[in-house]
Amino acid sequence: AKGTLRNSFQFFDAAITSTSIEQLQIETLLRRAIERDELLLHYQPKVDRAGKLVGFEALIRWQNAELGMVSPARFIPIAEDTGLIISIGAWVLQEIARQMREWRAQGLPIVPVAANVSALQFSQSGFVQTVAETLAQADLPLGWLELELTESMLMGQIDDLRRQLIDLRQLGVTLAIDDFGTGYSSLSYLHRLPINVLKIDRSFVARLDQSDAMVERSLVSAIISLGHHLGMQIVAEGVETVGQRQILLDAGCDVFQGYYIGRPLPAESAAAWLHPRR
Ligand code: C2E
Ligand code: CA
Ligand code: CA
Ligand code: CA
Repeated sequence: AKGTLRNSFQFFDAAITSTSIEQLQIETLLRRAIERDELLLHYQPKVDRAGKLVGFEALIRWQNAELGMVSPARFIPIAEDTGLIISIGAWVLQEIARQMREWRAQGLPIVPVAANVSALQFSQSGFVQTVAETLAQADLPLGWLELELTESMLMGQIDDLRRQLIDLRQLGVTLAIDDFGTGYSSLSYLHRLPINVLKIDRSFVARLDQSDAMVERSLVSAIISLGHHLGMQIVAEGVETVGQRQILLDAGCDVFQGYYIGRPLPAESAAAWLHPRR
C-alpha cells in the first residue's frame, strides 16, 4: 500500500509539472502571438425577434504553428495570469475597428460589435482612455462598440464603478452584462449602474426546452420582465434549438445568439450577414 501511495504522489507530481510546462509553453508562444499576426477574431451574429441581424459578438481565436488552433478557454486564463490580456484586449478593440472600416469600404452596413472584456483589463486605470483612443482613431459613426462585462467585475466600490461606466457610456459605448445569472449581483444593484444589455447565460438557455425545466423557464421569464422594467435589453446566448428560441420569444426576449442562429464565423463569412438580401 505504501508503494502505491508513493507512486500516486509521483504521478500527481508529474501531472503538475507537465501542466506548468504546457502553461509556460503557451505563455512563451502567446507573447509573440500579436506581432506574428496569429490572433484573429470570429464574429457570431445576434438577431432580433424577427430574425434580422442586430450585431455581432467578436470572439478571439489563436492559430499557432506548433499548437494549432488554441481555444480561448485555454489561453485567456493564461493571458490574464500573465498580464498579456492587457495588450491582447487592446488588440481586440483595434482589430474590430479595422474590420469595420474594411466592411464599410466594401459598401457594407455598420452593425454594433461586442468585445469581451477581462477583469484585469477593466480594472486598469487606463482602460477608459484606451477605449477612448480606439474610438477616436476608428473614424466610425458612434455606437459601433459594445463591451461585455461580467457580474464579478461590478462588485467593487459603486461610486468609482459608476464613474467608469458613465465615462464609457459618454463615449457612445453600449454596456452589456455577460453570463448573467451565474454571478452574485442582483438586478436592483445593477439598476444603479448604467447597464444597457443583459445576456442570459447559456446554462439557463440550454435546459429551457426540457420537459422538467419549469424552474429554468420561470427564472428566465423573471429575468426578462425585471430587466425590461429596468430598461434593459435582453439577449439570450447559446440558443441551440428552435424550441429554446420559441420559449425565449414567448417570454419576451429581445435578441438571440447561438448555434441555432449562427456559429461564430471568420470575418469573410460573417460579411454575408451584412448583405441586404441575405
Ligand atoms: P463567452 O463570452 O460566454 O462567449 C460565448 C462562447 O460560447 C463562445 O465560445 C461561443 O463560441 C460559444 N457559443 C456560442 N453559441 C453557442 C451555442 O449555441 N452553444 C454552445 N455550446 N456554445 C456557444 P468561445 O469562442 O470558445 O469563447 C469562450 C470564452 O472565451 C468566451 O465566453 C469569453 O469568456 C472568452 N473570450 C473569447 N474571446 C475573448 C476576447 O476577445 N477577450 C476576452 N477577454 N475573452 C474572450
Ligand atoms: Ca461574451
Ligand atoms: Ca457569455
Ligand atoms: Ca461564458
